[in-house]
Amino acid sequence: MMNVQLSIGSMLERAEKYFPKKEIVSRTQKKIHRLTYEEIGRRTRQLAHALKELGVAKGERVGTFAWNHHRHLEAYFAIPGINAVLHTINIRLSAEHLTYIINHAEDKVLLIDEDLLPLIEKIKDDIPTVKAFIIMGDGALPNTSLSPIYSYEELLQGKDDFFSFEPVSDENDPAGLCYTSATTGNPKGVLYTHRSTVLHSMALGLADSMAVSEKDRAMPVVPMFHVNAWGLPFASTWFGTTQVFPGPQFNPKVLAELIEKEKVTLTAGVPTIWLGLLKELEETSYDISSLRAVVCGGSAAPDFLIEAFEEKYDVPFLHAYGMTETSPLVTVSSLKSYQQSIPPSEKLEIRAKQGIVVPGLEVKVVNDKGEVKRDGEDMGELLIRGPWIADKYYKDERSKEAFHNGWLHTGDVATMDEEGFIKLVDRTKDLIKSGGEWISSVDLENALMAHDAIFEAAVVAIPHPKWQERPLACVVLKNPDEKITKEELYDFLKARFANWMLPDDILFMEEIPKTSVGKFLKRALRDQLKDYYQ
Ligand code: ADP
Repeated sequence: MMNVQLSIGSMLERAEKYFPKKEIVSRTQKKIHRLTYEEIGRRTRQLAHALKELGVAKGERVGTFAWNHHRHLEAYFAIPGINAVLHTINIRLSAEHLTYIINHAEDKVLLIDEDLLPLIEKIKDDIPTVKAFIIMGDGALPNTSLSPIYSYEELLQGKDDFFSFEPVSDENDPAGLCYTSATTGNPKGVLYTHRSTVLHSMALGLADSMAVSEKDRAMPVVPMFHVNAWGLPFASTWFGTTQVFPGPQFNPKVLAELIEKEKVTLTAGVPTIWLGLLKELEETSYDISSLRAVVCGGSAAPDFLIEAFEEKYDVPFLHAYGMTETSPLVTVSSLKSYQQSIPPSEKLEIRAKQGIVVPGLEVKVVNDKGEVKRDGEDMGELLIRGPWIADKYYKDERSKEAFHNGWLHTGDVATMDEEGFIKLVDRTKDLIKSGGEWISSVDLENALMAHDAIFEAAVVAIPHPKWQERPLACVVLKNPDEKITKEELYDFLKARFANWMLPDDILFMEEIPKTSVGKFLKRALRDQLKDYYQ
């Protein structure tokens, strides 16, 4: 067979050739832009010229510091299109981590959204590798202390739009770089290749995974800096899918409006996004019937959330699992053909699991006795391997912890049932060890969030003098004025959990701290509550 090298540039070329009229809808600070793939293609090639003229060479890193919009999409293709490396930077990192990753990646150029400028201005003297700042905005260049600066739109003007993407001589060449958000220590970089990106995109198109297709109108809510918006912009472009980008500072109302107006069929994000949208839908009515799938990953999808979208709004909800190290798609939870006729409650239980590994990857769950029994009970660490799974961290000594014997050791504790469905019990560090027994924080959280009065719940382990660790629950009410007592919540939980599994206390909070990608920041809660028994 032909040994053709897979390349990211060829994905956009296909959209330009076969879907030039299809649309990209992009919400920015000032307006909604509508561009065709033909226009996106031309502008991407102009950007490629501009980056070359700024001196970006093969293998060098170009950072993006931006929301989800069409200019970011253009950067997704222009940067790998000149054989450079697209480094998507998490806009919510601390100044210290931002400085660390820009220096670690040795970014040569940064493309920055106008409203995010102050975050980079703060660290400008500490990022010496950056030789140019390109500001992505709709209007004139703003005042800034960064230098030298260029306006994205002005850079494109007058540039030739006939740039042919540089041939990829080795599909294993680096094309993308993404850092994990650090729970301890500095963030770790994962380098994606042309090959891994193309193969991962293909997996997103499979009927039994997300089935992304030309007919979709896909809206990635998951940020383009969070594992490349889970690969959706690459796959959607390749397949000629209409894309809808929610842009800066969006909220549940903006999302609901975009779904209704743009007739979004497929959207993806973390559970906190869907909890927020659900609350908005309960308060105001929108027509979201265009949706054929809400993809949810990044943290466990509570079963009540799946049920609410499906039962109340008739919108299929797809639970998926992955991580930065895995590009990210690893498993998707959809019922097998012969599971369609089982009772609804059992179906829901299966759908709330993380699912079955997608074709192309291998997984196993291992504990000190070897591979776990496929009984949905025996727990172990989830191990993964395959062509879009990293084999090391980028220039990082810490690689050995996660990568050995040819497998990625995820640090996630899981079970596997007889049908091969993976269920994540917890992250190793979140699992609660009480008197030699394990308690899943995720199960308690999901049960609490199923209560009508509760908006968000996080359960953490706190040190206990006798039991080693005990669970404490932190909850946020949907309506702060509602008079709900701890006793009522305990009664609610008692129906589902043995007494020893119940949290020692339920604390009412105004807000649960979140990570930079919108997950519950349990580390902060653990720190805050560590002296509870002192
Ligand atoms: P971060 O480390 O910043 O959270 P990642 O997105 O790489 O960034 O996080 C990957 C982790 O998120 C996984 O190791 C797992 O613990 C968790 N995760 C991802 N998807 C799910 C899911 N569907 N259910 C439960 N946990 C999930």
